Formats: sequence, structure tokens, C-alpha cells
Amino acid sequence: MTSSEDLYPVSRLAAVQEATAKAGIDALLLTPGPDLRYVSGYDAKPLERLTCLVVPASGEPYMMVPRLELPAAQASPASRLGLEFVAWDETDDPYRIAADRLGRPATVGLADRMWAMASLRFREVLPDAEQVLAGRVLRELRMRKSPAEVAALRQAGEAIDAVHRQVPGFLRAGRTEREVGRDIAEAILAAGHATVDFVIVASGPNGASPHHEVSDRVIQAGEPVVVDIGGQLHNGYCSDSTRTYCVGEPPADFTAPYEALRRAQEAACAAVRPGVTCESIDAAARDVLTEAGYGEYFIHRTGHGIGVETHEEPYIVAGNTELMEPGFAFSVEPGFYLPGRHGARIEDIVVCGDDGPIRLNDTPRTLVIV
Ligand code: ZN
Ligand code: ZN
Ligand code: ZN
Repeated sequence: MTSSEDLYPVSRLAAVQEATAKAGIDALLLTPGPDLRYVSGYDAKPLERLTCLVVPASGEPYMMVPRLELPAAQASPASRLGLEFVAWDETDDPYRIAADRLGRPATVGLADRMWAMASLRFREVLPDAEQVLAGRVLRELRMRKSPAEVAALRQAGEAIDAVHRQVPGFLRAGRTEREVGRDIAEAILAAGHATVDFVIVASGPNGASPHHEVSDRVIQAGEPVVVDIGGQLHNGYCSDSTRTYCVGEPPADFTAPYEALRRAQEAACAAVRPGVTCESIDAAARDVLTEAGYGEYFIHRTGHGIGVETHEEPYIVAGNTELMEPGFAFSVEPGFYLPGRHGARIEDIVVCGDDGPIRLNDTPRTLVIV
């Protein structure tokens, strides 16, 4: 088990502050969401009342909190940081209070997922401050997972693998996607996740829509079913894995592209090592599918980073020339989608290790006949 002290070390705040100064940003304004959680460990609810960790490039960081949230903030891992909690009352204007403390910053970095209502209020009270994304600073840190973070992602991978192992028991002809999805959602929680982030059960022609969720469609014998599932552990780290199942014998026109897909996914995983570009991993998968004649049916990027958010940097996509480094964690999930017929995807989370890929999922990648 990874402790929250290891996952959200107290030293991170100083590293963030240093990176903020280096980026020429006067202060980061981190409202509830993955950026705040990453920096402080505080899993605050996003609300209309302002909670905001202010990280100035120099000087003491502090956390604005509504007075009624103060006990929750003090009980959170953020209390280890030795921050001042600035509690504001219902009749106060917390944006004004923050602005008075900030003085006249030239540039502020807003949490990437700050609500527009907060960012516009910050613009009002800090009219001279240029607003940029805090991601400019935090991406560099969030992309490079610490050993504790890799351990947490491994734990997430094991939890979602445990769910995939149960899927053959849930899937059968005559059940609807929604019924199967409900069983899967329950299993995701039972496997140790705090939340179910998504459940895709895409049978037959629905498999041709990569982000189909579930529907009342009744699963038929002989149909491939794409099952893409994920959740967030109590420690904040996310799981995401796809397997394609078939209810009975697969259609004759499915086996060849599926075999090409399996080789494509394998090739992309094998291409992972420090120093290669993110786009080269996408190309490794795409080249195999293209050579097999299915390139035009692979209609999305090969993967996305994962951590305290399911989709984060780095993106494994053509045009991304960022170089892989040890600790990068991301999905490798090529697929093929034949409109009106069926689709397939195979997805593992992979960490870039010192000399090659470390896979965090290990359920069978061959077509699982149920
Ligand atoms: Zn996706
Ligand atoms: Zn997925
Ligand atoms: Zn994914």
C-alpha cells in the first residue's frame, strides 16, 4: 500500500513554487480538481464557494477556504503542508481577499480545470494580471511519476484487471449492455476503487463508436463486445483498461483485423523506452494496422497519460515530439472501428521504465470468447 505521505509528499509544494518562479508566473491559483490534489493531497469538492490554494512564486503559500469547509480542509492531507488556511465568511468576497493579498501580479496560473465562474471573477479582481494555465508549470511534474505514483498506478491496474477477469461471467447473449455495465460498475467499486469513472460496453455495431457507453441494446450471440472501464482509487490514482470479448464464435471478418490489432498494440508497447518521441509510439501501432490494410479504421490517437486524472499529458499522438522519460505513464490503446458492423480496442497502461516498458495490466489480450 502506498501511503499518502509518499504519494503527496510535503516537499512537492516547494518544487511547485520553484517551478512557478522559473516559469515567470507570479502565483498559481489552484481550485479543487486534479491540480490541487496533486500539489496538496486535498480532494476538495468543486463548489461555487471558492476554495483555492495560492502558491506565490515567492512568499508563503496559503489556502482560501469557505469557513464551513475549514474542518474538512484541516482534516485533509493539505494540513501537513503547514499552510495558513484563510477562512472566509458567507458575507465576504473571497476573490477580493485573495486579490488584496496578491497585490499586483503580472501573471497568474489558473488550475487547468478551474470553473469559468472562478476564472472570470479572478479576472475582475486582478484586471492587470495575464491568466495562463497552471499546467504550464505542473505538466512537467505531473508527467514524471515518482516510484510511489507508479506503485499507486500498479495498484489501480491490478484492481481493474480483477474486474476484467469477472467480465466473462457478466457477458452473455440476451443481456443488455446496461445490465452488464451495472455489474461491472459494482465490481469496479468492490475491487477497491472510490469512484467508477466510466463503463463502456459496446456490443456489435456499437463497438464502432469508440466512446459509446452503455445502451439498452440486447447483446447477440456471435458479437464482439468492447469493454473499456476505469475508476479512481481512494488514493487518487486512476485505472483504465480495455479488452474486447466475443459472445460465442467471432464473425468471419473479425479475426484478421483483431489479430492485426493485437500485433499493433504489442508493437507500440515494445517501442516504449526513454528518449523516443511520443509520436513514435503512436506510429508503431499505426504502421502495423496500416500495413494490414486497417489503418483508416484506427480513428483516434494511440494513448493518453494517466495519473490523478484519467486523461492527462503526455498524449501519444502524431505531432507530439516530446521525448519519453522514465516515469511517464500512459495508455496504449489502438483500435479499429468498422461503421455499422463492429469494433475492437486493446488498452493497457504502460510506464516508461529505465530500459523499456513496464505494463500495468496483464489480463489476456487475445480475443476472449465467452
Ligand atoms: Zn478513450
Ligand atoms: Zn479506456
Ligand atoms: Zn484510455
